[in-house]
Amino acid sequence: MHVCVVGAGVVGLSTAYALTQKGHRVTVIDPAAPGSGATGGNGAQLSYSYVQPMADPGIWAQLPQLLLSPSSALKVRPQWDPAQWAWLLRFLKACNTAQSHSTTAQLLRLAAQSRTALDAWREREALDIDFSASGKLVMFRSAAAFHAARSQLALQRQLGGAPQQAVSAEEACAIEPALTPRRDAFAGGIYTDSECAADGQKLCDALVRILSVRDVHWRMGQPVQRLVVRDQHMEAVQLASGQDITADAFVLSTGHSAPLLAVQAGIRLPVYPLKGYSITVDTDGPGLAPRVSITDSARKLVFARLGERLRVAGMVELVGRNTGIPADRIDSLRSATQDLFGDCSRFADLHPWTGMRPATPTGLPVLGRQPQGPANLYLNTGHGGLGLTLAAGSAVEVADAITRSV
Ligand SMILES: Cc1cc2nc3c(=O)[nH]c(=O)nc-3n(C[C@H](O)[C@H](O)[C@H](O)COP(=O)(O)OP(=O)(O)OC[C@H]3O[C@@H](n4cnc5c(N)ncnc54)[C@H](O)[C@@H]3O)c2cc1C
Repeated sequence: MHVCVVGAGVVGLSTAYALTQKGHRVTVIDPAAPGSGATGGNGAQLSYSYVQPMADPGIWAQLPQLLLSPSSALKVRPQWDPAQWAWLLRFLKACNTAQSHSTTAQLLRLAAQSRTALDAWREREALDIDFSASGKLVMFRSAAAFHAARSQLALQRQLGGAPQQAVSAEEACAIEPALTPRRDAFAGGIYTDSECAADGQKLCDALVRILSVRDVHWRMGQPVQRLVVRDQHMEAVQLASGQDITADAFVLSTGHSAPLLAVQAGIRLPVYPLKGYSITVDTDGPGLAPRVSITDSARKLVFARLGERLRVAGMVELVGRNTGIPADRIDSLRSATQDLFGDCSRFADLHPWTGMRPATPTGLPVLGRQPQGPANLYLNTGHGGLGLTLAAGSAVEVADAITRSV
C-alpha cells in the first residue's frame, strides 16, 4: 500500500517509520526541514507518567494568578479568531474532574504503548538521540500544590501508572544534588525513577536517516495546499506547485495547522496552537547541572539534561500563530535557570527557540479515521505538550489501523 504522510515533525516521521515497518511504501511531504515545527527545541521529556492534562479542575483556582500576574507562564492574547474562542470555551468545559480522570487514563495507556514502541525502536536502530533514563522530579513550591499533586499520584496509581513517590525537599536534594542550594524554595516533589528524556530534533534526524535508506520518497520544500476528495475518498493531496500526489491512504500530521487542511475534508479539528519557548545551554559552568529531569511546577518550567546540554522549556501562550521570540520570555527562562542552578552554565549561547503545541481542549490527540471524513484519510495530531512522549505509540496505532484497512 502507498501511504502519503503530510508533516515531518516527530509525529509524522514516527508514523512513516511505523508504516515502513509494516511493509508500506511511504511518501513524506513538508515545506520545512524535518523537526523544525513544534518538535526541535521542545522540553525533551519522555513524560510517560506525568500525563495530567492542562484541562483540570485545579485550573479554576489558579486562573486569576495565571492570567493577571506579569510573570505568569500562561498568556492569552484574544484574537479576532473564532477558532481561538471556540477552543477556549471547550477547554474550560473540559476542566472538570470526570474529563480530567478519563483523559489521564487514556493518556497513560497511550504513553505505555509509546514507551514500549520507542524502546523497541531504540534497540533495533541504535538511535543517537541523547536518551537518558535518569528519572524525573516535579517540584512544588507551596504546601497546597504539593498536596494536590499527591492526590493526582493516588489517581495515577489506581489507573496503573508507573510507581511514583512523594518526597520531601530534603529527599529531592538527595536524589538530585543540583537542587541543594535552593532546597528551601520547595515544599516537596513527586519522583518517578522510570521517566526518560531525549532530544526531539535528534530523533527526527535519526528517523530521516533510517527512512531514507528504506526508500521513502521525500517531497520537501512545498506545503500541501489542497486535499483532493471525491465521493468520501481522498484521491490526492495537491502541492503549492499544483502537482497532485496520489496514494492509497493519507495521514495528516501537520501539527497545529492540521485544522486548516482537515476542514477541506469535512473534518472540524479542535486543535489550536499553544506557543512555548526554550533555551538550550552548555553545562560548562563551575556549578552542578541536574542529571534528573526537573519540573518547577509553580513556574511551569521543565529542565532536561541532553548529554552535556541543559534544555529549559515552558510557557503557554494563546496568541495565534505569531512565531516571534520576545526577548523577555528568553530572559525569564535564563533567569529561572540561574535562580535554580546558579552557575551550571556560562550561558554563552542560549539557542532561543519557540514552538506551537498542537493542542486539543481535553489534551487527547486525534488519531485515525474520523467518521465525518474520507475513509482513507487518517489523522495523527493534537498531542499538545506530549507529542514527543506519545509519538511512537500514536504512530503504531495509526499504522496498525491503516494496515487493517487493506
Ligand atoms: C515549549 C514546548 C515544550 C514541549 N515539551 C515537550 C516535552 O517535554 N515532551 C513532550 O512529549 N512534548 C513536548 N512538547 C510538545 C511536542 O513538542 C509537540 O506535541 C510535538 O512536537 C508535535 O509534533 P508534530 O509532529 O505533531 O508537529 P510539528 O513538529 O509541528 O510538525 C508538523 C509539521 O507539519 C508541517 N506542515 C504544516 N503544514 C503543512 C502543510 N500544509 N503541508 C505539509 N506540511 C505541513 C510543518 O512544517 C511541520 O514540520 C513541547 C512543545 C513546546 C512548544
